[in-house]
Amino acid sequence: MENKKLLRSGEFLVSEAAASDVFISEEFNEEQLMIAQTCRDFLVAEVYPNISLVEKGDRDLMKNILKKSGELGLMGIAVPEEYGGFGQSFVTQMLTAETIGAGYSFSVAFMAHCGIGTMPIVYYGNEEQRQKYVPRLATGELLGAYCLTEPGAGSDANSGKTNARLSEDGKYYILNGQKMWITNAGFADTFIVFAKVENDRVLSAFIVESKWPGVVVGPDEHKMGIKGSSTAQIFFNDVKVPAENMLGKRGEGFRIALSILHMGRIKLGANVLGAAKKAITDSVRYANERKQFGVLISTFGAIKYKLAEQVIRLLATESAVYRVSKDIDDMKEILESEISDKGRAAIEAISHYAVEAALLKVAGSELLDYVVDEAVQIHGGMGYSAEMDVERSYRDSRINRIFEGTNEINRLLVSDTAMKRAMKGEFDLFGQAEKVFNDPSGLYEEYRQGNDYFENKKRIIRNLKKAALLCIHGATKKFEKGLVKEQEVLNNITDIMIDVYQAESLALRTEKRENMKGHDPLFRDVLDVFVYDSAFRVRKSACDAVCSFADTDNTEKLLKVIDKLTTAECINVKEARRRIADKLIAENEYRL
Ligand SMILES: Cc1cc2nc3c(=O)[nH]c(=O)nc-3n(C[C@H](O)[C@H](O)[C@H](O)COP(=O)(O)OP(=O)(O)OC[C@H]3O[C@@H](n4cnc5c(N)ncnc54)[C@H](O)[C@@H]3O)c2cc1C
Repeated sequence: MENKKLLRSGEFLVSEAAASDVFISEEFNEEQLMIAQTCRDFLVAEVYPNISLVEKGDRDLMKNILKKSGELGLMGIAVPEEYGGFGQSFVTQMLTAETIGAGYSFSVAFMAHCGIGTMPIVYYGNEEQRQKYVPRLATGELLGAYCLTEPGAGSDANSGKTNARLSEDGKYYILNGQKMWITNAGFADTFIVFAKVENDRVLSAFIVESKWPGVVVGPDEHKMGIKGSSTAQIFFNDVKVPAENMLGKRGEGFRIALSILHMGRIKLGANVLGAAKKAITDSVRYANERKQFGVLISTFGAIKYKLAEQVIRLLATESAVYRVSKDIDDMKEILESEISDKGRAAIEAISHYAVEAALLKVAGSELLDYVVDEAVQIHGGMGYSAEMDVERSYRDSRINRIFEGTNEINRLLVSDTAMKRAMKGEFDLFGQAEKVFNDPSGLYEEYRQGNDYFENKKRIIRNLKKAALLCIHGATKKFEKGLVKEQEVLNNITDIMIDVYQAESLALRTEKRENMKGHDPLFRDVLDVFVYDSAFRVRKSACDAVCSFADTDNTEKLLKVIDKLTTAECINVKEARRRIADKLIAENEYRL
């Protein structure tokens, strides 16, 4: 942290981090690697042998596996030591989320319990609530769930109808309402329930125990994927919730819900990495066994393209995930000197990085969908067989674009939150954007002979950032306050931000890796291809945005500028991808 320039959320659009300032996966310490290994061993010993049975609906078995993971200490990683956990850093929490991510529906049940089911009490509970519930949640003695969604309130989460009325003696809230799609509902002991007190306009939050009279859990939903996880409706019929079980203050529920979603989103970004690595290993192993036309299918260029692309996209997202994880740890350290309650400081640090959380939720879930789709394709007909793990991976992946806020909602949040933060003066987005808009051609950075490899990559990425700034200024000028209704344009800006953040994180990681370990041609291949592809994707998004806001007299001029700003250097992407695939094929598993 010493001397590090800690960027604020979204500031990456206008500032550049130094390679020495970003945390990379290659820096995990022995303890972190040991925790990850323990998680992997647990999946192999307890989850994989049972996953088919669990998928057939054996909820007791899922409950037992969850409890075993608790006994082993895996549920206490994020929980502070004073409440029976291990108080690990956010980076370690993310590594755990990643590793468990290879555990199919167990991963969903585990993450829901450890994250949205437990952490609201750690972050927002008072001392009595924490002492009463957290130590037992940290060991798995109690299992938790989070109840926000209702039949009529999904993305619009604050519109829920669940109601809490204070009893005449002031001792209880009488809870009435219905929640749906609740993960772990079938066996959870505690629910974090969001409801409006009397005629309040905003939500409050409560800790509700499943054994209390009036709590009724419906049958499990029949789902497309993650069939081993319990998902059900919960009905609250005149449930007497002790007044001391209100979490936070009255009316603070929506804020709690949103903060917890920031945490859930960013952890999802790590969680999908583990699932993707498993699917890549399954892909390459099959490609190395299956022969057609007399040769292994892994020798075909079309298959190598897919294998390489799985790896390239994964490494870009992974670089961004661990970069922001360490920023969160650093922000927490700063906030702990200002906020006396450590739990609140921790959630404030996570919530601070709301732009990156939403960005990585979208990037990660779409990365995984790509990886598992190509995994099925590499398996051909066998990919469609329920005998193969990739069939399960494919079904299980799809939910990630829907829960923790749909990708539509999260896409809107990325650009919208960055602009709102800038408006509050957290960083100078609009001044920089105006500068680019007024003199875009002057700001275009040409390739300079003699620039080193990394400086050249950063130059390209800086140009891509300027494409984003140009769109931000043009769109705000044209639509003003109405920009919020121009979702397509906001999405164009977000898509540029997603590429830029990942490309920059990958570039900084590659540079830092080389500083640590020496020249690394393979990582340079990965970076070359990702930046090359990013430039083309950014060009499309920026052109779409410009054509949506520009007046006829300046459209052509702006499009020419976009053209220059998104010029990619000529790379032999075919050969680069082949080299990446060949390494994977030689190792016969994902090992990078
Ligand atoms: C398996 C599973 C597990 C879940 N687990 C939990 C849980 O543990 N706890 C919990 O509280 N919830 C949980 N959920 C609920 C989940 O978070 C919601 O399904 C999700 O937030 C979307 O809400 P919805 O289904 O009502 O879709 P809707 O909000 O009805 O959305 C439908 C479509 O409209 C789009 N849309 C909606 N609003 C906008 C907008 N303003 N602009 C643009 N597009 C928009 C959406 O992106 C989507 O494409 C779970 C859901 C599933 C399927």
